[in-house]
Amino acid sequence: MGECGRARSRPQQEGANPMITLLTDLWNFFDLRGFLLACIIFIPLERLLALHKEQHVFRKWWWNDLIYVFANRILISAGLGTLAVAVIALSGWLMPRQVQAAVAGQPYWLQVVEAVILADLGFYTAHRMFHSIPWLWKFHSVHHSIEELDWLAAARVHPIDQIVTKGMSILPLFALGFAAVPIGIFAAIYFWHSILVHANVRLNFGPLRWLIASPEFHHWHHANQREAYNTNYAGQLSILDKLFGTMYMPEGQVPEKYGVDDPVPNTYLLHLIYPFKRRRPAASAEAATTTQSMVDA
Ligand SMILES: [Zn+2]
Ligand SMILES: [Zn+2]
Repeated sequence: MGECGRARSRPQQEGANPMITLLTDLWNFFDLRGFLLACIIFIPLERLLALHKEQHVFRKWWWNDLIYVFANRILISAGLGTLAVAVIALSGWLMPRQVQAAVAGQPYWLQVVEAVILADLGFYTAHRMFHSIPWLWKFHSVHHSIEELDWLAAARVHPIDQIVTKGMSILPLFALGFAAVPIGIFAAIYFWHSILVHANVRLNFGPLRWLIASPEFHHWHHANQREAYNTNYAGQLSILDKLFGTMYMPEGQVPEKYGVDDPVPNTYLLHLIYPFKRRRPAASAEAATTTQSMVDA
């Protein structure tokens, strides 16, 4: 996707910029180097600052999430790549050229700030949809099925969930004409931030926790506790949940359990087909009374 943005926005100056290549590579969770770097950073960090001290590095179903790291790459690249090409091809029709030129002409630091805000508004909307619409929840429940949350949990996302959520976050940036460097920087920030918020760490963000999503914030999103259902949708800016009335971060408390009550299977291939499987009516009705998606916070 970074390649496409680079080709369209500033072809001469940015076509061979190694920084963009580095940043977009680092963003890609499914790239081997990004994955190894994440191992080197987060495995020791989780030992040093463990939130749930009893949790092991090789926690339940860790090997399945490792499959996600590499197998999802192909499906997501194909899906998002196709969407990105379509948006770029239609961008002249979607957005006036003058607007795109004005956006691309801003300082890079300002474009990064704007990209984070706009992309997280898209993320918030998509994420809330995945929790509110029953058939979308079936896709998203795969991510919520993790019972021992750690940095690797960030990888367990159904490819259709990833494509729609990432698409709604990042494709508007292409349509608006953001330059490739700021998109690359945003993508790198997003990648590392999404791993951090899942990590099994006790990190105090201080007053910044009301502005920026922290592990504490996202762990509550994963809590399988009624009072925390359908809260903390933002990916990066927790202030969005404050603004939209969906924030839940009780002072001095830690989630007791994670996961869902839905009958989500445990392995990659079964996860892929799980949303498409019909459930018996009785089971569906029962699930509807217990699942996160059906209960208001
Ligand atoms: Zn969610
Ligand atoms: Zn999550």
